[in-house]
Amino acid sequence: MDAVPNLPTPDFTFDPNAPGACLAGVRPYRNGSFRLDAETVSGRFVVHNYGHGGAGITLSWGCAAKVKELVQKRIAVSHDTEVAVLGAGVMGMTAATLLLGLGLNVTIYSDRNPVETTSFKAGGHWAVSVIAYAGKEQELKDILKTSYLTFKNSIGQGFGVSERPNFTPKPSPNLDVVQQLVPGLLPPRVPLSRMPFEGHTKPGFRYQTLLVEPPIFLPRLESDLRAHGVTFVHRKFVSKSDVFTSLTQKIIVNCTGLGAKTLWNDSKMMPIKGQLAMLPAQPNLQYLYGQDGYMFPRADHVVIGGTFEENVDNELFDKTVCKGLVQHIAALFGKAVPRPMPDIHIHHPRNAAMVNPAMPVRV
Ligand SMILES: Cc1cc2nc3c(=O)[nH]c(=O)nc-3n(C[C@H](O)[C@H](O)[C@H](O)COP(=O)(O)OP(=O)(O)OC[C@H]3O[C@@H](n4cnc5c(N)ncnc54)[C@H](O)[C@@H]3O)c2cc1C
Repeated sequence: MDAVPNLPTPDFTFDPNAPGACLAGVRPYRNGSFRLDAETVSGRFVVHNYGHGGAGITLSWGCAAKVKELVQKRIAVSHDTEVAVLGAGVMGMTAATLLLGLGLNVTIYSDRNPVETTSFKAGGHWAVSVIAYAGKEQELKDILKTSYLTFKNSIGQGFGVSERPNFTPKPSPNLDVVQQLVPGLLPPRVPLSRMPFEGHTKPGFRYQTLLVEPPIFLPRLESDLRAHGVTFVHRKFVSKSDVFTSLTQKIIVNCTGLGAKTLWNDSKMMPIKGQLAMLPAQPNLQYLYGQDGYMFPRADHVVIGGTFEENVDNELFDKTVCKGLVQHIAALFGKAVPRPMPDIHIHHPRNAAMVNPAMPVRV
């Protein structure tokens, strides 16, 4: 037995009828690989930055740094001073933040406010979940490193980032893949002969990782951008040509997430819906937990999630599913009758896993 004192057990009391208790979002998954490249179309320099599946928060700063590199090379020859960023989710706002560092005038165009985006709904675990990266392994290593270090350096500065232990009964592929790609970036996982919980004493693992709380991180990005003169324009684009005819900027950064499926005619894009149960906040819980589902105690809520519905792109939640998520995790803590994950069509992106066997499919 490890001489580890028990950590507080969550209070799993959950009322699915309470306002805001259930939530659903759609992961912008791209078959094969996420998109991060540039092309010149109709005289415009377009940088694409979308398709990050269940890992957009995690990879955001690293991808933004790549966007900056591409734009920097371009302006060295074109001397453009204006850039249009499409999308006000985490990808658009982190890219816009770094582009300011090039002295550019940045305008963000989006048909949703930051708080309405998928990014705002994310749980906020720093982990490589549900993303394909065939042919982009080297790039992903750089992205992971830059992202992790940027988040880590922002701890304590009002970005909603904290370092947390994550307890898992089984090894976590989404964190092990980081160890494989960038050895030494995260502290090594620690095998435990017993979990440190009163009703949950099976063996397991402890990982040290980050929690990035979207309800703090995104508003902070938005307010910093506004303070630096970035304008947010509410605008829905219906097609690529609509973008080119209505915008004057020569540099366009496309961070439209799932929107790129129709906007850029990208048939590789695939929605993967996820549902979340939002329990009242429990500040005494300072750890993350995951097994076939996950639990992230944040300042606003204890978030319990982990469903994956392929090719479902509506944001409608099902109270029974959310209740099932809570019961599943509660049972692992000995607080409910054991039961499997909610009985909905859960189908992981196996194709992507086959393209790249390292692709993790679940938290
Ligand atoms: C339930 C759930 C849990 C998740 N948990 C995590 C997690 O723990 N960790 C993690 O790293 N990631 C997580 N994710 C994944 C993460 O949320 C996404 O990868 C990320 O939000 C993608 O960011 P984005 O900026 O590309 O897309 P979005 O946030 O969707 O932003 C896209 C933007 O483009 C705009 N747009 C799209 N189309 C158009 C158009 N035609 N015209 C104008 N504007 C347009 C939208 O309005 C929006 O502003 C989770 C996702 C879900 C659904």
